[in-house]
This record gives sequence, C-alpha cells and structure tokens, in this order.
Amino acid sequence: MEKRISGTTGLFCLVGSPVGHSGSPAMYNYSFQKQGLDYAYMAFDVKKEQMAAAMKTIKLFNIRGGNITMPCKNIAATLVDELSPAARIIGAINVFVNDNGKITGHITDGIGFVRNLKEHGIDVAGKKLVVIGAGGAATALQVQSALDGAKELSIFNRDDEFYARAEETVKKIQKEAPTVTANAFHLEDNDKLKEEIASADILVNATIIGMKPQDGQSLVDPSFLRKDLVVADTVYNPLKTKLILDAEKIGCQTAPGKGMLLWQGAAAYKLFVGKEMPAKEYQEYEQ
Ligand code: NAD
Repeated sequence: MEKRISGTTGLFCLVGSPVGHSGSPAMYNYSFQKQGLDYAYMAFDVKKEQMAAAMKTIKLFNIRGGNITMPCKNIAATLVDELSPAARIIGAINVFVNDNGKITGHITDGIGFVRNLKEHGIDVAGKKLVVIGAGGAATALQVQSALDGAKELSIFNRDDEFYARAEETVKKIQKEAPTVTANAFHLEDNDKLKEEIASADILVNATIIGMKPQDGQSLVDPSFLRKDLVVADTVYNPLKTKLILDAEKIGCQTAPGKGMLLWQGAAAYKLFVGKEMPAKEYQEYEQ
C-alpha cells in the first residue's frame, strides 16, 4: 500500500449510506492494482441531506469519479452537470465521472443486467420480458431493456408506493422507445401474471423478495415456469434465490443477480478509466 498510494494518486469513491458492507472498494482497488493504474477507491458514508455538500467536496478535492448508492441515487441525479440518456429517463444515477470539474451522472444497473444476460448467451433484443418490481433496480433494467430493443415489457408490482412508478416507467418507455409495448399490472392478479409469463421469453424478479432475510420466498408459483423460459433475478444475497432454484429444477436457463452486480461495476469502471475491468479475474480471485 505505501508503495501504491502516492501524492499523485487519483481518488474514486462510493457515496451513500450505509456503505460499510460494499464490495466496491475491494473490486475497484484490485482492478486498479492489476492494471497498474495510479488510482485508489474509498467509501464515504453520506446521508441524502448531505449529498449537495458531498458533490461540492468531490469537485473541491477533484475526486475523479465513483459510485452513488442508496439513498442518494435520485438526489445525486439533480446535482450533477450532465446526465446520460438512461439516467435522464430514470432520474437516478449510480455512477459519476468528474471531467475537470464537470460531473456527468450515469446509471449502469440496467447495462449490468443486459450484459449479464449476454454472458449467459441471451440477447434482450426482440424479447418479451415480464419484470416483477418497480423500484430502483427494476426501473433501471426496464428502461435499459427497452433502449436495447426488447419487444415487450410487462411490469408487475404489488399495490404499494412503487406501483405508481411502474405506471410512470410505462409512460416513459412509451415516450422514449415507442416501438416497445409496455404495460403495468397488479401483482395481486395472479392469473394475469401466469398469462403474461406464458407468452414471455424472460422472467425477472427485481423486488427484495428472495433477498435475505426474505430468502426462501418467491413471488412466482413454480407451475408458471417452463423449460424454455429464461429466469433472472436482481437479488445477489443469497447467490441463488428460491425463484432461481425453482427455475433450475425445471431446467430453465437462469441468470442470478451476482452477475448483474459484477457487470454494472465493470460498466462503471469503463466510464472511470476507459478500460475493460478485469472482471473475470476478479470473480476468480474473489471465490
Ligand atoms: P427498491 O426498494 O427500490 O424496490 C423494492 C421493490 O420490492 C419494489 O418493487 C417493491 O414493491 C417490492 N417489494 C417489497 N416488498 C415486497 C413484497 N412483500 N412483495 C412483493 N414486492 C415487494 O429496491 P431496489 O434497490 O430496486 O432493490 C431490489 C433488489 O435488487 C434488492 O435485492 C437489491 O439488493 C437488488 N439489486 C441488485 C443489483 C445488482 O446489481 N444485482 C442492483 C440493484 C439492486
């Protein structure tokens, strides 16, 4: 460490709260070191109401870029100088790049989702997706799938404060990607869920159901699954959710959330330093 960090080392950081559990510092510092880049990555615990001051500090300290996590993703999008097309549509960022004082916000969660499917040999272009969820991860992957040429998106959410976001996302997709058919449905309508899954190519869980401590739970009756359905999850803790395990039993192609996490991080790295992250090496090193 004393040899690697010097007076010229450029800083990247994670901003949000809590940040103590994050795997980002280990992943990015591994990658900088592996590629001999004079950068370091740190995590800073910043609350939503401190985000404006944090953005000023980023400029003052010439922090080169970094990640934004909950609960700061939406507020940060209002504080940057420019937004990527997907970040503008979604109104949230998880990545920022500081170009000599001009900060651009990006969102790479959806890019990570699409790339994870690609790594499993599946292209979203021309496909019908059923996505359960309308929160941060869901919205990002719904918008990115639409931008990447999905044919149809059926969004299901339970009747909570996120349902209105499902309807908003449908409107945004209709405006920004008019060739995509997008609809929002109530998750309580189990018959509709069954019907939509029956005509879908890809089913995605983008809710917190399946995540610890709600592991062992799934929102989809296993009888709705069939062998030629691709089943993806955004949840990465546990590595395999009940939905993914149910799908494996039926013989479906599956894409668990850990890959999405890795590839959203790799997309951010490319924005940070203009190089491919040694993602597969890090995956092996981590295991
Ligand atoms: P969020 O709080 O923004 O959204 C929560 C979603 O869960 C909403 O759609 C809500 O309606 C739904 N929900 C909550 N309780 C429910 C219940 N009892 N029944 C049905 N639906 C319920 O959360 P988020 O940030 O979008 O995260 C969702 C999941 O995705 C988390 O497990 C998170 O760790 C994961 N995630 C993964 C990645 C990745 O890269 N793999 C990235 C972001 C988030």
